[in-house]
Amino acid sequence: MTPSECLLRMYALYDRCAAEFAFACRKGCATCCTQSVTMTTLEGELLNDYLAGQPDLLPLLDAMPGQTSAPPTTINQFAAACLLGEYADEPQPAWDFAPCIFLQDNCCAVYPVRPFMCRSFGSRVRCDSSGTAEVEPFFLTLNTVFLQCIEHLDRGRPWGNMYAVLRSIQQSGQANAETLAGLRIAEQIQGFLIPPDETERIQDCLRSLLDLLRGAQGKQEK
Ligand code: SF4
Ligand code: SF4
Repeated sequence: MTPSECLLRMYALYDRCAAEFAFACRKGCATCCTQSVTMTTLEGELLNDYLAGQPDLLPLLDAMPGQTSAPPTTINQFAAACLLGEYADEPQPAWDFAPCIFLQDNCCAVYPVRPFMCRSFGSRVRCDSSGTAEVEPFFLTLNTVFLQCIEHLDRGRPWGNMYAVLRSIQQSGQANAETLAGLRIAEQIQGFLIPPDETERIQDCLRSLLDLLRGAQGKQEK
């Protein structure tokens, strides 16, 4: 299984794992579609390939912001620091609430290949009426575990704001984490952030995720 195939299978697995939650999310509800999405390079390549086959969407890229910011650590760096008791409460960049450049008439123009972070948006109540998303804690744990595995799958390559990663792919050969401010390098999993009382509930999804990662790793090592 190639990393790309593994990523697509992870997305499909996530749909099955998240099916137990009831969301108020509907097509056309898009308060969550901001410019603060992060992704891996592998996710960016999927998105970039899709855009290359949809010339009518290419003008959207003209609106890519020149300056972006990303969290000070990747999710796996954050998890490792927490597990070692070394987590420092570093200042987070302000959330950029400007609408995502791929938002067209309140719908996602790249929906089939949207990054995992977009897939993980969900709320029990409409965010536009309540002012914020409402989710149960287990949903956050599930999202974190998927984010960790998706980062692990692409370890060693740039990770960060969606537009910065896209730009790094389009400038490949020149761009890397050093030359593009704000990008980090995806890291491997050192451990999961799963509260003890959620271990049993998440074990089937986690086992399936780890099987997928092993399948992709086996292919990479051949
Ligand atoms: S997360 Fe909030 S804004 Fe996004 S689709 Fe769901 S209800 Fe709408
Ligand atoms: S890529 Fe699509 S789903 Fe993600 S924030 Fe942009 S418009 Fe929304």
